Amino acid sequence: MTGWRGEIARRVRGECRPDEPLAPRTSIRVGGPADLLVRPADPADLAALLGAARQLGLPVAILGGGANTLVADAGVRGLVVRLPTDFGEERASGERLLLSAGAPIARLASRGHALGLVGAEFSAGIPGTLGGATAMNAGTRLGEMKQVISRVELATADGAGFVEAAALQLAYRHCELPPGAVVTRVECQLHPGDVAASRAAMEADVAHRRRTQPLSQPSFGSTFWNPPGRFAGQLIEAVGLKGHRIGGATFSELHANFIVNLGQATALDVLALVRLARARVEERFGIRLETEVRPLGQFAPGEV
Ligand SMILES: Cc1cc2nc3c(=O)[nH]c(=O)nc-3n(C[C@H](O)[C@H](O)[C@H](O)COP(=O)(O)OP(=O)(O)OC[C@H]3O[C@@H](n4cnc5c(N)ncnc54)[C@H](O)[C@@H]3O)c2cc1C
Repeated sequence: MTGWRGEIARRVRGECRPDEPLAPRTSIRVGGPADLLVRPADPADLAALLGAARQLGLPVAILGGGANTLVADAGVRGLVVRLPTDFGEERASGERLLLSAGAPIARLASRGHALGLVGAEFSAGIPGTLGGATAMNAGTRLGEMKQVISRVELATADGAGFVEAAALQLAYRHCELPPGAVVTRVECQLHPGDVAASRAAMEADVAHRRRTQPLSQPSFGSTFWNPPGRFAGQLIEAVGLKGHRIGGATFSELHANFIVNLGQATALDVLALVRLARARVEERFGIRLETEVRPLGQFAPGEV
């Protein structure tokens, strides 16, 4: 590797992959490559990476499990950072679990269950990492990350440290992280309870998802937030877009708020569906649909 990519590769011990396709690292499987995808080896390595990025003036984006991310067809300039699943030391202390942000969100409930702790039932079936779930305040009708997070560990180019949950302003699918901050570990508080009942509730929720969501097709889950008192899927269906296809992308027949990739979808196809649904729902109901999905990379002006 040459130029700034060579410089980063020299300073970082972890894995550096130039021109790495990102589509396979997202659940909807669209979009172009990252200039450089970096997987820092450990917290010291991440600190070196963030310091080098600042020194070289490189943009840094963070990718978790890619379950809520739409990558631009033109890809992503600069660095894309992805944490290993076992990043940072994990600890359990009483009812508190300190877990790696790179770990799957499912780890929260399973580690809790192993210790006789419950309270993360809401996370059943949500794909992605704990870092992504924190950044999105992921949740379901059963609850959300806000209810369990006590504090998070953040890394920036200025250093690393813990931040109390209250400082993150967690709200419906919202978390205020300092610009450029990487969530490296998440501390969650669960409580002692009936593990068998907790497992059963989670299994029932996953079974319900299998019946009501197109889980066998690539998607990023819900496309739009539910407007207050309404369901985005019902609004999309009401304006006749359930099953509507543009290029390789379509609003799912099973759940109209899910856009699925039929095989060859581009980010432009996905965005064309987003724009169409927005326009029709606004025209008919006077409601502006806001996207839940996070765009990543270079989109043309007005595209997103
Ligand atoms: C089939 C399906 C069902 C879904 N169901 C639900 C659901 O029921 N409820 C729900 O809330 N969501 C749902 N989602 C969306 C998705 O699972 C969540 O938003 C999840 O929390 C995303 O995690 P991720 O690691 O994949 O994040 P990514 O998509 O990788 O990233 C999302 C955002 O988080 C940021 N981020 C990721 N990791 C970090 C980090 N370590 N530090 C700082 N920022 C970070 C990224 O920069 C980006 O802005 C669903 C998705 C799919 C595909």
